[in-house]
Amino acid sequence: MNKPKMASEKGVPSNSRVQILLTQLEKMTGDSMVRDPEMARQITSKLLHLIQTQGKRSRKINTTRDIQTILNILCILSELLTLGKGRRVGVFVSKGGTAVLLRILINANKEFHPNEELMLHLHSLLAKVGPKDRKLGVKARLTGALHVTINLIKKNLQNVKLVLPCLQVLRVYSANLVNAIALGKSGAIDMMFKIVAPYSKKNASLIKVAVDALVALLKSKTNARRTVEGGYVPTLLALYLDWHRNDTWHRHTVIRKGLLGCLRNVTNIKLGRRAFTKADGMRILYNSSTECLSVRTLDPLVNASSLIMRKCFPKNRLPLPTIKSAFHYQLEHVLASGPVAQLYSQPPGVDDVVDESDDNEDTEADTENDTENEEDEKDCRSLNDDIEKDINKLNPQKIPSRPYEELKVYEKFFMELSQDFQGFNFGSSTTSSSAQSAQPIVVPTAQVPSPNHVTARSTEDVCDSSAPTPALRPLQLDASDFAKGPNKNEEAHNQPDEVGEGAVLEVPDTAQLLPLHDLDLYVEMVKGTKSVPSYTEVAYPDYFGHVAPTYREPLLERLYGVQRSKIFQDIERLIHPNDIMDKVVYDLDIPSCPVIGSDGESLRFNSQFESGNLRKAIQIRKYEYDLILNSDINSNHHHQWFYFEVSGMRVGTTYRFNIINCEKSNSQFNYGMQPLMYSVQEAISGRPCWVRTGTDICYYKNHFARSSIATGGQKGKSYYTMSFSTAFSHKDDVCYFSYHYPYTYSSLKMHLSKLEALRAPEIYLREDVLCETLGGNSCPLLTVTAMPESNSSDHICQFRNRPLIFLSARVHPGETNASWVMKGTLEFLMGPSLLAATLRESYIFKIVPMLNPDGVINGNHRCSLSGEDLNRQWQNPNPELHPTIYHTKSLLQYLAHTQRAPLVFCDYHGHSRKKNVFMYGCSLKETIWQSNISTASNDIEEDLAYRALPKILSQIAPAFSMASCSFVVERSKESTARVVVWREIGVQRSYTMESTVCGCDQGKYKGFQIGTRELEEMGAQFCVALLRLKRMTGIHSHQHLLDLESDLIGTHCPTTYVMDEDEPSFLEAVDYSAESNDEDTEVDLGAAAAAASATTDTGEVPELLSDSENNRDAWKSEPVTSSQ
Ligand SMILES: [Zn+2]
Repeated sequence: MNKPKMASEKGVPSNSRVQILLTQLEKMTGDSMVRDPEMARQITSKLLHLIQTQGKRSRKINTTRDIQTILNILCILSELLTLGKGRRVGVFVSKGGTAVLLRILINANKEFHPNEELMLHLHSLLAKVGPKDRKLGVKARLTGALHVTINLIKKNLQNVKLVLPCLQVLRVYSANLVNAIALGKSGAIDMMFKIVAPYSKKNASLIKVAVDALVALLKSKTNARRTVEGGYVPTLLALYLDWHRNDTWHRHTVIRKGLLGCLRNVTNIKLGRRAFTKADGMRILYNSSTECLSVRTLDPLVNASSLIMRKCFPKNRLPLPTIKSAFHYQLEHVLASGPVAQLYSQPPGVDDVVDESDDNEDTEADTENDTENEEDEKDCRSLNDDIEKDINKLNPQKIPSRPYEELKVYEKFFMELSQDFQGFNFGSSTTSSSAQSAQPIVVPTAQVPSPNHVTARSTEDVCDSSAPTPALRPLQLDASDFAKGPNKNEEAHNQPDEVGEGAVLEVPDTAQLLPLHDLDLYVEMVKGTKSVPSYTEVAYPDYFGHVAPTYREPLLERLYGVQRSKIFQDIERLIHPNDIMDKVVYDLDIPSCPVIGSDGESLRFNSQFESGNLRKAIQIRKYEYDLILNSDINSNHHHQWFYFEVSGMRVGTTYRFNIINCEKSNSQFNYGMQPLMYSVQEAISGRPCWVRTGTDICYYKNHFARSSIATGGQKGKSYYTMSFSTAFSHKDDVCYFSYHYPYTYSSLKMHLSKLEALRAPEIYLREDVLCETLGGNSCPLLTVTAMPESNSSDHICQFRNRPLIFLSARVHPGETNASWVMKGTLEFLMGPSLLAATLRESYIFKIVPMLNPDGVINGNHRCSLSGEDLNRQWQNPNPELHPTIYHTKSLLQYLAHTQRAPLVFCDYHGHSRKKNVFMYGCSLKETIWQSNISTASNDIEEDLAYRALPKILSQIAPAFSMASCSFVVERSKESTARVVVWREIGVQRSYTMESTVCGCDQGKYKGFQIGTRELEEMGAQFCVALLRLKRMTGIHSHQHLLDLESDLIGTHCPTTYVMDEDEPSFLEAVDYSAESNDEDTEVDLGAAAAAASATTDTGEVPELLSDSENNRDAWKSEPVTSSQ
C-alpha cells in the first residue's frame, strides 16, 4: 500500500477544509480506522463532497499542487476502501464516487503528459469500485474514459505496473457489449493479443486479467469476427496448448480456462467455427482434454473444451433419403392447406434432410444494440405469453350446438337412457342375456383377414438365406408355429435347431397372472388390425403379454461424466474416422428387404410389427449402433416413441445404442428413466416382463442438423441423441426395446373381448363402434354401468338418471401409459369389488379407450394418419380427417343438447418431461390470476368444484401430485379436448390426466420408476375418487356440495402455471446441450444455471450442473458486473 503523501505545509489554501479532513483521516489510519469505521465514513463522505464541488470547478484548477492533493485523496480512499470491504465501496458508489473518478481521469488526460502516478491510482480505484457500479460502463463511454484507458495501455505496453490496473478497468468496461464494440473499433483486439503471451511464470497475473478482458470483448460478434480476420484463432489455440503443456502443476488453470473462453466466444460465429476447424482445433482440444481427464480438478477445462468441440462439430445430415415417413398413406380427403398437402407439395428435388439455407447464417447483421435500459424487462415476459387473456374465451360458453336433427343419430349410442328392460328376467343371474338385449352393436373383432395380412413368409428368408439361423423365429401371423406348453425348464436354444414352419416354441403360461390375456385371441385380433405397411409379424411381448415384476425399479442414479464420455466418443468419430464402420444393418427405405444380410458380426434389427417404428440401424463400432426412428405417417417429424426388436447378440458384451433423431430438447432419460427391454428367453423361462434396463443413459444435443422444413422454419436446430448401453444375458435371444410399456390396438381389442367374456350379469356393458378410422380400424365406445335392480319404473328411472362420466385415452399414440391407466380403470369398473358395484350403480360410464387407433398401430408418436395432432382438432374436427374426434365431440354435444352433459370429463395422457401423475383443468379465476390481466380476480365468483377430484386423487392415489396440477387455460390449448369440453359443452370438471413415463418424486413411489402396476392402480384409484365425489354429491344438494368441496379444497391457492400441457417448461431443464445457435447461448446458460441451482438439492444430474455452472462462471474470475 502506498503511503499517502500529505501536502501539509504546502497545503492548498482554497482547500483548507480538505486539509483538515485529511489530517483527521491521517490520524485515523491504521488500527483506529478499523475500530471506528463510522467516523471514517463520515470523513470520507465529506471529502467526497468536497471533491465533487471541486470537480465542478476543476476545469480551471489544473495545477500540480491539485494533482498532489488529488493523489493524496486517492491514496486515502484506496486504503479506506480496501479496509472497508464491500460496504464502503457500496457507499462510495452510491455517493457518485465513480463519476468523480471518471471526471478526474478525463481532466488529467487533458494534460500533455498525464501524470502517470495519478493514472495508476485512478485506475486502481476504478478497478476496485467499478464492479459495484452497474452503470460504470455507460458512464465511462459517455465521458470518453474508454479511450483514455485504452490509449494509456497502448502507450505503455511494457509498463506492467500501469497496464495491470488499466486492464482491470478495461475488463469492467467490456462487460458492457456496446463498450466492447467501441473498444474493438479502437483496436483493443490487436492490443490484447500483444499482451496475452505464451506460458510465463512472471506476468501471470497480468495475462490472467488480459485474458479475462479478452473474453469479455469477444462476446461481441463484431470483435469475434475481427479476431478471426486478424488470424488470431490459431494464436489462441497455440496459446492454450502452450499453457496446457507448461502449466504442469495446474497453477494457472484460470488462464487456461480464460483462453478456452476466448475460443468459446469466437466460435459463436460461423466464421470462427470454420477457422477453429481449419486450425485443427478439434484435434488440439480433443487431445488436450483427454490428457486432462485423469485430473478431476481440470474438469472445468474438459467441459469447456467439450462445449467448444460440440459447437464446432461439422453438422451432418441424417443418413436418410428423406425425413418424410418411410410410409405414405394416401388420404381420400386432403385439405389443400393441411399439413399433408404441404408435406407432399415440395418441388421435386428438394432435399428435406439437409437444409441449405442454414449456410446463410453469416449474413447476420451485428444486432448488438444498447440494451441497458431493457435489462429488467427480459425476465418479466416469457411465462405469461401463452395464457388466455380474452375474457370472452375464458367464460365457459355453450356455443350453440348443432341442430338436434344432426345429433339425433347419436341417440343409438345412448340406449341406456331410453331402454325400459321390459321382458327382461331379473331373477335369473346365471345368464348374460342382459348384455345381449343391451348390445345392439358388436365390434367385428375377428374379421376374416385380407390376404396380405397373413403372409406367412418372413422377408428375411428372401434376403438372407445364408445367415445363421437364430433359434427364435419372427412370430408370424400364422400362429400354428406355437403351442402352449407348461414345461418351462427347457431353454429354447436347447431345442433342436429346427427352422421349419413347424418349429415348436414354448410359451409361458400366464393365464393365471394375466386374466385378460389370451395368446390365440391376440393373434386373431392382430388379423383384424389394419396397418399401413400391412404388417405380418407379431412382436413376442404383445403375444406373450407382460406381467409386472414383483419388485419396484428405482430411478437410475446418473454416474458422473456419462454425458461427457459419450460426447467424447462422438467426437472421436471425427478425429479417428477410420475406426467407424458405418455399416447399415436395417433400412426401411429398402422396402423389399429392410433386414440387411447379417454376417454374424452385427446385431439384427426389426420393427415390422404393430407399434414398431425403427427406420434404420447403422453399426458404428463393433458394439455400437446408431438408430433412426421413423416419422409419424404423413409427417416428417415427431420422433420420441420407439419399439424395435434385436437379435443375434453376444452374451456378456455391452452394446451401445444411440437413437440419433430425437427432437425434444430434454428428456426424462436425463433424470433417472431407463428404457424398457423384453427378453423372449426370459419370457419362455416364466418371466414375461418388460423391465427397465440400460446404463450410461443420457440425452443430449447431437451434430445432426434438422432441416428447417421439419422445424416450422427454425434454422440451425439439431437433433438429440438418446444413448444407452446394455448387455444381454441369453444366447440366441430375441429382445425388444421400447420407450414405454407397449400397448397395441390389438391388445385393447383383446382386453375388451376378455372383459366382455368375463362380465358378471349385474354389469351393464355395451361395446359400440363409434366410427371407423382413416385406416379402416374401428374405434370402440364402451358403456359401463350397473343393470337396473328390476324393471320397475323406480329402478329404471334411477338407472337412466345416473350422472355420466366420460373418459377417453390415447389420443397421442406414443403415450402408452395412458392405455395402462385406462386398463386399470376398465378392470376396476368391471371388477367384483363392492366399491366397483357402488360405482356402477352411481354412474353411467362412457369410455373411448383409444382415440387414435391408427397412430397406435403404425408406431406414430403424436399424430393420426392425417399427419395431425388429434388433440388440437377439437374446436373444429373434420368428419373425414378426424373421425374419432368428430364423433366423440358429437356424443358430448348430443349429451349437452339433452341436458345430460357429463359430471366429469377426463382425457388420459402421458407426460414425457414431468414426474408423477397430475391433472390439468380449467379455471377462469386461476387463468386471470396467473395472467395478471386483472388484479380484481378476487372479485370473480367461481365454483371451486373443479378442484375436488384432483384433491381427492392426491389423497388416495400414491402417484398423484396436486402440486403438479394446473388449472390455467392456455391459448395453445384452446383446441384440446379439455378446453373445448369445458368451454363448449360446459363441463366444469373437464380434465387432462397426465401420467409420467418416468417415475415419482413424491409419495409412496418416490425414487422409483413407474410400472404398469402403478399405472393400472392409478386407473383404479381414479374410479375410487369418482365414488368419493359421488358421496358428496349424493348426500347434499348442489349448493351444499359446493360448500363441502370448498371445505375439502381448503383455501383457494392458485397452482403453478405450467407452460405446455405436454411439455411444460420444467425446472429440470438444465443445460446439457452445446448451443450453436448464437443468440441463445448466453440466455440458455443463465437460465440453466438458475435451474441448476434450483435442482441441486434434489441431487439430480450433478454433472450437468457442473456443465452449466462452469459455463456461466468460468470466464469471470472476479465479480464483474454486467450491464447486459
Ligand atoms: Zn398427450
